Amino acid sequence: MAEAYPWQDSLWQQLAGRSQHAHAYLLHGPAGIGKRALAERLMASLLCQRPTPEACGECKSCLLLKAGSHPDNYILEPEEADKAIKVDQVRDLVSFVVQTAQLGGRKVVLIEPVESMNINAANALLKSLEEPSGDTVLLLVSHQPSRLLPTIKSRCVQQACPLPGEAMSLEWLARALPECSADERVELLTLAAGSPLAAVNLQAQGVREQRAQVVEGVKKLLKQQQSPTQLAEEWKNIPMLRLFDWFCDWSSLILRYQLTQDEAGLGLADMRKVVQYLAQKSAQGKVLDIQDWILAQRQKVLSKANLNPALLLEALLVQWAGLPGQR
Ligand SMILES: [Zn+2]
Repeated sequence: MAEAYPWQDSLWQQLAGRSQHAHAYLLHGPAGIGKRALAERLMASLLCQRPTPEACGECKSCLLLKAGSHPDNYILEPEEADKAIKVDQVRDLVSFVVQTAQLGGRKVVLIEPVESMNINAANALLKSLEEPSGDTVLLLVSHQPSRLLPTIKSRCVQQACPLPGEAMSLEWLARALPECSADERVELLTLAAGSPLAAVNLQAQGVREQRAQVVEGVKKLLKQQQSPTQLAEEWKNIPMLRLFDWFCDWSSLILRYQLTQDEAGLGLADMRKVVQYLAQKSAQGKVLDIQDWILAQRQKVLSKANLNPALLLEALLVQWAGLPGQR
């Protein structure tokens, strides 16, 4: 059974409590807040023979779903993580949609993430959205609805799934991560941009240890106790995108402090002193230049261009070490 998160209570009532269901829903919102779980919960409710509206968990339909052998549900996702949903996969889905439900109830399709369909795949799906077979409900899950074709969006009932409030997230994290202190949970939630499930993932990936290592390294870099080459070697197991995100974030914080002198806006405690020092010692033009450079390189990292990570990281660190000073 999909987990029910406390911040989804009213969303769930709105969606599952409808007297009549739309034939397609688009659940969209930031990653890491449980949209997939919400969609799975709705799928179970739509298939259940005695929903309350929560799926009963005991009828034939619920048992088949639990066993992973329900004939009337279909999950479409990339064959490999972070890859595209292919047009052939959508064609298989379309032939499922035109069949009659084998248990005599609804058929339910879950697609996640919808934005991973390329244009051919999306066009193939459009046909199913335009001519739905009567008893099929499509549940589309998207972390980036801006990347969807307008024709897809307009054929769905759109349901925004907002980030939970900080207090509710921290309360939930206290139960999910009892091994962390309250301060550590705040740190994780900040690093996860407010998404509680992403915060749990970051903890599992050892991100706080990575962050401590990087912060320590940046301090040594600025004191010229470690060279860019040494640090690039030391950090080779830390995901490149994560490193670029942190440096991008720090350059924004430096710029903000230069403009506002507001100590409340210095970001997480671990880098506050360094950010403040760099804001005081660096020319604004240099900070802007390095931020532009980071954003441009980040795009390349994202597009998985053929890069030499060690060289790229060294180039970043050479510029970062050169921030304080007159020129
Ligand atoms: Zn049931």
